[in-house]
Amino acid sequence: MENYRYNLFRRRTDKIKVGKLYIGGDSPISVQSMTNTPTEDFEATLAQVRALEDVGCDIVRMAIPSLEAVRTIYNLKVAGVKSALVADIHFDYRLALESAEAGIDKIRINPGNIGENAKIKAVADKCASLNIPIRIGVNSGSVDKKILAKHGGATAEALAESALENIALLEQYDFNKIIVAVKSSDVRRMIQANRIVAESCSYPMHIGVTEAGSDKSGSIKGAVGIGALLADGIGDTLRVSLTADPTTEIKRGREILSALGLDVKSLVNIVSCPTCGRTKVDMMNTVSRLEDRIDEIKVTRPITVAVMGCAVNGPGEASEADIGIAGGDGEFLLFKKGQKIRKLSAENAVDELIKEINSSQL
Ligand code: SF4
Repeated sequence: MENYRYNLFRRRTDKIKVGKLYIGGDSPISVQSMTNTPTEDFEATLAQVRALEDVGCDIVRMAIPSLEAVRTIYNLKVAGVKSALVADIHFDYRLALESAEAGIDKIRINPGNIGENAKIKAVADKCASLNIPIRIGVNSGSVDKKILAKHGGATAEALAESALENIALLEQYDFNKIIVAVKSSDVRRMIQANRIVAESCSYPMHIGVTEAGSDKSGSIKGAVGIGALLADGIGDTLRVSLTADPTTEIKRGREILSALGLDVKSLVNIVSCPTCGRTKVDMMNTVSRLEDRIDEIKVTRPITVAVMGCAVNGPGEASEADIGIAGGDGEFLLFKKGQKIRKLSAENAVDELIKEINSSQL
């Protein structure tokens, strides 16, 4: 049962080195975000990259609209940032070449707006010589007019065809360190387009719902779209695009992975009951206090910790949890594997639960 959380089927893909990490193959699914500081402002960008790393970011993408922004790539590397850095290039292929020279780990281009093929070839050749992968990004706004006309709009089929056409373009220049992203703000269309691409190539895939909205609405769209694909084994790196602080994107990305038991960085899975008329303790407060202190829990293997509303059904309902607490009248009952251990006062329950987990080497 324990391994159930970690044995989801995963689509076979190429394994591509991106800086110090890998995307695809058997490598952990990475979570990424994009800085929203002006990239030319090195200090502000460094602070944001560090903040993203603190919440578990693996890959940071940055807009590179100028040579001054390219200098920030170099300076971030000198400053020793740990995450893989991706240059987001639009229109000017020379900025891709300069970013490669400055030490970027991956380049994101949309071949459609780079211009003639000679420029795309120049980027592919430079990246090949420096072992830098290219992410091809396709979205509803970047689909070629011919493809739009053929499919009657930016349908899932049109998005997928556009991505496959861009892949073919890079392959034509013998470039195959490719990561492919097909995004849409329409969740079902994004799921369908990714399924088509997944069946048509073996390149790793970056998944996400674009222009998803705020943390409240966008996180749900992201969780549904990304979650559906991950459950199908599709997706090697992800971004939960939100109109919010970039660190929120990372937190939500990790939560989505965690919900599917795919987050290698999180060993603690907290489950809690929805509460009902039997509940006599403040469950919302207790669960949120435990979630806030999740980093204090030190374990060497994945565990499930339950917070249940009542001692009548709680330990039984959470019998698959390794340890948990179940509410009584102003107190909690501590239980392990469904067996009652001892009573805890409501105020100290979270403290005692964390102490018990850390001392009992679960
Ligand atoms: S564990 Fe108890 S309080 Fe929670 S939903 Fe079940 S019966 Fe209700």
